Amino acid sequence: MARYRDAKCRLCRREGAKLFLKGERCFKPSCAIEKRGATPPGQHGRDQRRTKVTGYGTQLREKQKVKRIYGMLEKQFRIFFEKAAQQKGVTGETLLSMLERRLDNAVFRLGFAINRRQGRQLVAHGHIAVNGRRVNIPSFFVRPGDRVSVIEGSRKNVHVMSAWQTASGRGRPSWLEVTDLEKMEGRVTALPRREDIDQDINEQLIVELYSK
Ligand code: SF4
Repeated sequence: MARYRDAKCRLCRREGAKLFLKGERCFKPSCAIEKRGATPPGQHGRDQRRTKVTGYGTQLREKQKVKRIYGMLEKQFRIFFEKAAQQKGVTGETLLSMLERRLDNAVFRLGFAINRRQGRQLVAHGHIAVNGRRVNIPSFFVRPGDRVSVIEGSRKNVHVMSAWQTASGRGRPSWLEVTDLEKMEGRVTALPRREDIDQDINEQLIVELYSK
């Protein structure tokens, strides 16, 4: 699948918020947002902040922000939204819950990867198992009761080990629990709820954008 490959910190600065796209650096003072503030990148970045943003512009930026947090491209994100809209409940919250349930996100949230991009690579390259069976589809939905683990041959992978050692410092959401530290295994205890997503997101703006 095509991926956005530009500098990650530029994306955070463009959205004016920390999107946690890099890993450990995101939690350190060397984070570009911490150092330079939420100024758009480029020569005229500061001027752009002063420009009045329209309602449509605000909705568009919110959608771009969430897309970038979860590392998705427009077409796939739109499909997610349409699936969320077909389900019962509040569409924006359902959308966020579905995004959280992606296997690449669960791998990141459990601490097997330093960011979602690395989570996606681990899944796509066959390092992750769900209920003991290898799954290599990053958009696979995890369900309550599923066991997510790093396959035995990949537990010594330097990237996995490094992420695993620092994961507890980042914290884990309440819908996931680590069941075996040595085997690098976790369990999905519940469906992700809105309050489990700690990033500053106004999902209603995305609903309004796509409902036009
Ligand atoms: Fe870069 Fe900070 Fe964004 Fe992480 S949170 S990608 S370090 S700007």
